[in-house]
Amino acid sequence: MKLKNKNLGAYLAFICKVNSLQISNEVRNKILNHIDKLDTIILVVLNTYILILSFLSKIIFFKPLRDVKDSQIALLRKLLFVFYFFIKKIDQIIFVIANLHIYGDEELKEIPLSSYKNNDLNHFKFIVIGSGPAGSVTASELAKIYGNKVLIIEKGDYYEIPKSKHPGEEFSKKWYRGGINSTYFKEMIAYSSGSCFGGGSEINSGLYHRPDAEFLKEWQGEYSTIELDQKSIDEFSLKVENLINIEEDIDERFSNIFVEGAKIGKEKYSNLNKFYDSNTKTKNSMSETLLKDFLKNDGNVALNTDVKKIWYEDSQWKIKSRQGDKLKYFSCDYLFLCCGSIFTNKLLLKSAISKEKKKIISSFTFHPMIKMIGTYKEDLQDLNDDVNSYQNMNFWPNFIIGNASSSIQFLTSSFQESIHIKKFIEVHWKKMKVFHATFSVGFGKIISLPFIKEPVLFYFIKNSDKKIIQNASLKLFNFIKNTGANFIIPITEKNSEIIETNKEDNQCLLETTKKFQISSVHVLGGVTMGENENCVSNSFGKINNYKNLYVNDSSLINTKLLKNPQGTIMMIAYRNISNFLQSL
Ligand SMILES: Cc1cc2nc3c(=O)[nH]c(=O)nc-3n(C[C@H](O)[C@H](O)[C@H](O)COP(=O)(O)OP(=O)(O)OC[C@H]3O[C@@H](n4cnc5c(N)ncnc54)[C@H](O)[C@@H]3O)c2cc1C
Repeated sequence: MKLKNKNLGAYLAFICKVNSLQISNEVRNKILNHIDKLDTIILVVLNTYILILSFLSKIIFFKPLRDVKDSQIALLRKLLFVFYFFIKKIDQIIFVIANLHIYGDEELKEIPLSSYKNNDLNHFKFIVIGSGPAGSVTASELAKIYGNKVLIIEKGDYYEIPKSKHPGEEFSKKWYRGGINSTYFKEMIAYSSGSCFGGGSEINSGLYHRPDAEFLKEWQGEYSTIELDQKSIDEFSLKVENLINIEEDIDERFSNIFVEGAKIGKEKYSNLNKFYDSNTKTKNSMSETLLKDFLKNDGNVALNTDVKKIWYEDSQWKIKSRQGDKLKYFSCDYLFLCCGSIFTNKLLLKSAISKEKKKIISSFTFHPMIKMIGTYKEDLQDLNDDVNSYQNMNFWPNFIIGNASSSIQFLTSSFQESIHIKKFIEVHWKKMKVFHATFSVGFGKIISLPFIKEPVLFYFIKNSDKKIIQNASLKLFNFIKNTGANFIIPITEKNSEIIETNKEDNQCLLETTKKFQISSVHVLGGVTMGENENCVSNSFGKINNYKNLYVNDSSLINTKLLKNPQGTIMMIAYRNISNFLQSL
């Protein structure tokens, strides 16, 4: 272990001790590896902080940080009180990561891809960048006809799917930057996406919605998109629906109280289909389904290959990528960008494609969500249970209510500062469930900063939309109360409270809640698809004014969707690639 890591290791041990967390050496190394994956800005702040602590330790105690006592680390921390805000954030990040590995210790094995036979070949007829749901549809449809003439380039690696919900290694190996990301201004929204073979489908809950007629009508109205009515797209939704099923063995204890709560409030609810195989009782992620077909059809894959730039030269698309510490170049006749919103946008911006539409391409939207924890009289969960597929649809199109990961590490992660809530959770976590209310509000901007390779994101929510969120929090609270919860904990930025539901002032307490923590797992938009002057691509994802360049992923969704997007993203991808294949 490097010197820097020894000091960081000492600080990690200190944070664990303060929070009564036990770590073995093995887990400690996993946590340090995880920290290494974080966002450059976070890493710079963290390393600077450890350096300052180490420096102070040497001049005050004449010893490096790794050799001083915990009480001495606590004193050094106090000396840096002017940086309280940053120290709090750093401590919280370390605490969250430590929790993820301590309570989710399942190991994830890498799956070797023996079919990567064309490692030395650089030219392919078709290249698809990104292997998430959209890239998997695109590449698997191409490979049905063109087999080994197709290459997928994927930044992440190929790992098995864990049996437990979100173990620590899943975050460090499959999530973009270890799963710890935030927008910086004006709202600090924690967001996440997948970065591995199969993209987001490998880590998500796989909840499915078929795109509805109103959403399609709105999209056509906004962008004059042709052939996007319900009738034209039904055949593609049916293709997606080959992969979905109702999960029959979902936790009945929680399903029953969810349904009961909706019935008491006379609210509409539904049990969603999931990307799930009811025979094998496993998740139908892309690596288990379409990517397997792709490999069977002789498709090629370049893993751990991060595309940096694309350009058109000599009637071919050229691709500059980084494989580990080596640069690698590819070329192709037809190029499909399926890196997911933000990353496809970033690649277009970096490559100066459609420069005149830069303002549109640098935008995106989230489905921001707020969360509350319901506490019940009886046990409702075991460690690392999956999320439940029931959703309360009563308030759609304003917001949707559903269940989020509720295992102890996800419950405590927001309360590093609130000792009394953390203690309460440690005792009662088996009786707790997290609920979310998800919205489709605000807009984001991608900013490029010098020396920072990854996109830096800003997010804005109008005051009127903030009011919608605040009002919705009352509805969420009442719904959780109707499910029979005797305590509710809103997950807020600070001063969180445990609210007793049978006390008369419970609503007043909620109304004084200043600011909810906001997070998002749905990232959409940036490449407008249609026929009017605001469109970056035509009605089928072909980038205007560029030969043989296509976008076919979540960045094409620029109309308010709100529902879980994977089904819609895949349906559009099937539609567009089918149009492409017919036009060849
Ligand atoms: C925790 C979580 C839970 C979710 N739950 C649900 C759910 O229940 N239902 C639902 O419908 N949706 C859910 N989603 C959202 C859903 O997973 C995404 O909307 C979907 O995966 C987006 O598909 P995509 O193909 O556009 O992009 P992605 O799935 O993000 O795939 C893009 C791929 O491209 C790769 N890539 C990016 N840039 C480059 C580059 N420069 N070079 C090479 N490769 C690159 C990435 O590594 C990634 O693997 C969830 C998401 C998360 C994170």
